[in-house]
Amino acid sequence: MQIGDLIRRAGRQYGAAPALVDGDRVLSFAEFDEQTDRLGTALLASGLEPGDRVAVVLPNGIDGVVVYYALAKAGLVRVPLNTRETAHEHAYKIDDSQARALVFAGDPPARTEIMITAAELPAMIATAPPGPCDERRDQDAPLRLAYTGGTTGKPKAVVLTTRSELAEVANFLVDLLPNLHPGSVMLHAAPITHGSGAFFLPHLVKGAPNVIVATFSPAAFLDAALRHRATSTFMVPTMIAMLLEEPATAAAVAAGDLALERLCYGGAPIATTVLQRGIDVLGPVFAQLYGQAEAPLAITCLQPWEHTPERLTSAGKPYTFVEVQVRDTAGRVLGTDEVGEILTRGPHTMSRYWRRPEATAETIEPDGWLHTGDIGRWDAEGYLHLLDRRHDVIISGGFNVYPREVEDALLSHPAVAQAAVVGIPDEKWGERVAAAVVVRSPADAAEIVAFCEGRLAGFKRPRAVEIWPELPTSPVGKSLRREVRDRMAGIPMTAATTATP
Ligand code: AMP
Repeated sequence: MQIGDLIRRAGRQYGAAPALVDGDRVLSFAEFDEQTDRLGTALLASGLEPGDRVAVVLPNGIDGVVVYYALAKAGLVRVPLNTRETAHEHAYKIDDSQARALVFAGDPPARTEIMITAAELPAMIATAPPGPCDERRDQDAPLRLAYTGGTTGKPKAVVLTTRSELAEVANFLVDLLPNLHPGSVMLHAAPITHGSGAFFLPHLVKGAPNVIVATFSPAAFLDAALRHRATSTFMVPTMIAMLLEEPATAAAVAAGDLALERLCYGGAPIATTVLQRGIDVLGPVFAQLYGQAEAPLAITCLQPWEHTPERLTSAGKPYTFVEVQVRDTAGRVLGTDEVGEILTRGPHTMSRYWRRPEATAETIEPDGWLHTGDIGRWDAEGYLHLLDRRHDVIISGGFNVYPREVEDALLSHPAVAQAAVVGIPDEKWGERVAAAVVVRSPADAAEIVAFCEGRLAGFKRPRAVEIWPELPTSPVGKSLRREVRDRMAGIPMTAATTATP
């Protein structure tokens, strides 16, 4: 089965019913099927060949969805890029993925052989010949590349295939959203380039519309949720905190106007205070997902009825058809309350890293087990608890920030001799980026913060820089980020940090 088959069948089954809603723009299931066929045909006519990578930099909206699934039907490989990153960051990914084409809105971050602006899409769709675009690719061939960072600071792409995409849809339909029907409504308030995009197909195949909000704000979310009577949504923890700060949220609930049945969240640790407040205000609608780019959103989930006070620190139980283990550094499979690395296996995982065979070999065992790099433990009832990230990735507002990348930017400042970048706990953003630096000549911390503008996306820029006489180092001279973090946050060592092997 191909992804295009799901769209074609939904087009036949649900015809004139709304499939995609973006403000006043609506596409029916039949129109969505037809437009993705036509655009796929037009893309192939432009000189692209099945297997070619196509980078996409588009704001949240219908255009992006049509492009994504036209690429799927045409056998092309989608490389979705986060609009919040800088042109410099996009250019790196376009180069690394060897993209032959770029579909973009605004200024192009780089030049590729074939350049397509968002404004050209309607004409491409209108003038392409009708009829199905149905390039059939191998189940294990790349369908999309998802960029993720890594401790080296250089982002690398995860190869996701038709097999992994279909497994993700199946996992969602079995465990997370088993009752979808044409009366369900998915509200995409988070970027569809990221987690929210995974909710598109499960709703489509069940005849439920996907409503897209261009930019998240609590007001825009509430407006769309009330207008369309949204039943499902996905948020990163930061968005939940923002929604709860908005007085209109509780008012909408009190008036009985909110139809939300599932508020799915994940992608970063959530403060239990925020989660408890969310349940108090919105009711038992929260479902937590734990996953990563290498195994998107589908390693474990914590169901609404499992959100009891003592379970709020858990990431839930494995999806029915997903294998999960906790192992020690020697590879021994661990039991209850033993702390080790989390591994997962199943068709939901990536097939490999793009053009990084060594990284692939380090991450996936020959028998298919994938090392997540997360540290956790099982409790006596079989719930997984995440304790820390093996590497010191910072997650701010749901986006990953790789300390090395930020350190590299700081070190390009002429006065900065050493830098250690850490995440400081923040109730709204989950974590915010902070840095301690050692300078070689007199410098001003505020000027160093300003220096990072234009070099790093907003969510990666340090909010605070402190100038220290020296940075803490281990006996072998490695920078001790954890000590820096605790000193900057003014917190003592926690159980979670000391438990990390
Ligand atoms: P990414 O690859 O950008 O999706 O980031 C994945 C990482 O985010 C995981 O390896 C975890 O460290 C973290 N993460 C994802 N989901 C959760 C969750 N539900 N709770 C805590 N951390 C999470």
